Formats: sequence, C-alpha cells, structure tokens
Amino acid sequence: MTAQPTKQIPGVYHRKIGDIVVTAISDGYLDGNLEVMRNVDLDKAHTILREAFRPARRTSVNTFLIHSKGRLAIIDTGSGNYLLPTAGMVQRNLAAAGIDPESIDTVLLTHMHPDHSAGLTDMSNGKLLFPNAELVMHENELPHWFDDGAMARADERAKKLFFQAGREQVAPYKNRTRLFKQGEVFPGVTAVPSHGHTPGHTAYLIASGNHQLMIWGDTVHVPEVQTAHPEAGMGFDTDLAQAAASRKRMFDRVSADGTLVAGMHLHFPGFARLARRGEAYALYPEMWVHSFEQE
Ligand SMILES: [Zn+2]
Repeated sequence: MTAQPTKQIPGVYHRKIGDIVVTAISDGYLDGNLEVMRNVDLDKAHTILREAFRPARRTSVNTFLIHSKGRLAIIDTGSGNYLLPTAGMVQRNLAAAGIDPESIDTVLLTHMHPDHSAGLTDMSNGKLLFPNAELVMHENELPHWFDDGAMARADERAKKLFFQAGREQVAPYKNRTRLFKQGEVFPGVTAVPSHGHTPGHTAYLIASGNHQLMIWGDTVHVPEVQTAHPEAGMGFDTDLAQAAASRKRMFDRVSADGTLVAGMHLHFPGFARLARRGEAYALYPEMWVHSFEQE
C-alpha cells in the first residue's frame, strides 16, 4: 500500500523574463459572490461563470517574487491571517520555494487592500513579516488610506477592512517606506500607474532584453466576466469609472502586441495573454514553461 497524497503541492511557479526570474507565489484563494460586481447584468455574469465551469466567484490570490540583479523583491504580500483560511499561504509557500523572507529587500505594493497588504505584518503581534524590506508604493495610495475624511465617508466594512486594517499593516514599516510617481522602482521593474480600483493602484512592467511581463495587479477580479465585459467593475473600486477606463487602457495595451501578463487574481500561476475580440477580450493562460532557457 502506498499512501495517497493528502495535501496539494506548494503553489510556486517560476517564469524567466530575460535575465530576471519571476516566481509566482500563491496566497491561496477567496470565494465570494457576484453581488459585489457593478455595471454588469448579474444573470449574464452568473451564466458566464457557469459556462466556464466555475462553481463560484473563486478569486485566486497571487504574489510575485522578482529576482533581479542580485536583489529580491516581492510584489504584494497576500492576505496574512486576516481574511479566509483558504488564503494566507504566502509564508508557507515562500518556505517551500526555499526563500527566507529576510532575504527580500523590497516589497512593492500594487495597492493597499487586505488581500495584498495584510501579509506585511502579523496582525496578532505587530511583527514585520518582511523584516529587512523597504515598503514601496504609489504616492496616491498611502495618503488615501490615512485620510480621515475618506474613512468617515466609507461604509462600516470598508472602514474596518480597508482603512483601519491598512493603517495597522503598514505602520511597522513607517521609517522604511518609499512612495513613487512613476518610473523604474526596482531593477528591471517600471511602475505603470493604473488608478481607479484604488487611487494609487499600480501595475508593474518587468523588462529584460527583449522580454516583458506586465504584472497588472487588480485589473480584473473576475477574469471570465471582465474580459467579456470590460466595463464591469467591483463595488469596492474606489472610482468605478476610472477603474474601467484603466482596465480598458491596459487591455488595449497588452492585447495590441500580445504582451505576457500576470495578475493577482488570474487563476494561479496567473500568466496569460489577452486577445481582442471585437468589443470584448479573451484571456489565454500560458502553457507551463519547463525550461529556464529563454524561448
Ligand atoms: Zn485584490
């Protein structure tokens, strides 16, 4: 008798981009309902998911390590122990990948929502989970979540989950936080501001030689629905119209020349290409790349 496996293998996947190695590290997934979607007929959205054999709005949560020029960054940190038990696996998967969090010198955030920034800090004791890292994000992002007026206007859930929690997650990094407008923010990594989902939401373009990868952050949350209906947004977009405009701009940019993309909420490991189909788009997950030789 051989024992059957009882646990999934670790959620870790490498992709070489020129001289840079990008490693997708899964945080797990979050299940939710479609009622949080906006600007889309919900019956239509349900039909799209059903026809794609999706049981629910299952949101993969991905983070990405960037190994570049002898340095190591992580883009986003997952949800820590803050959301659901199906997520919060970044530290476990880093260990499985042989990565000591102390060796990560930079944390780049796409934005401050708990599925991206709650993994910064152990909320039970305030301990930094990336003790040697500089925290880096767009200059619009931090002030928004520290804006007492914006917090007062938010609903109770957002007050607690986004504003209060966000402040606690970044507080221990206070003396080692760097804010940017645009430009190269880490060797081979250029910030691509893509605002609307939050005021400072930012994608990151990884480039080395002729090779490129656009890590587009939260350009989509429900890939099946939002590629079919790019105007469809989420109730927790800070500015729905701006988020939709940014999404369309990003879709047009990456579909124009088949740029490889990766997303925090594309199904793990989250590497894909987007093609334009009339007014809609279609997402094609990339095949598993075995080789570390550049194709
Ligand atoms: Zn998110």
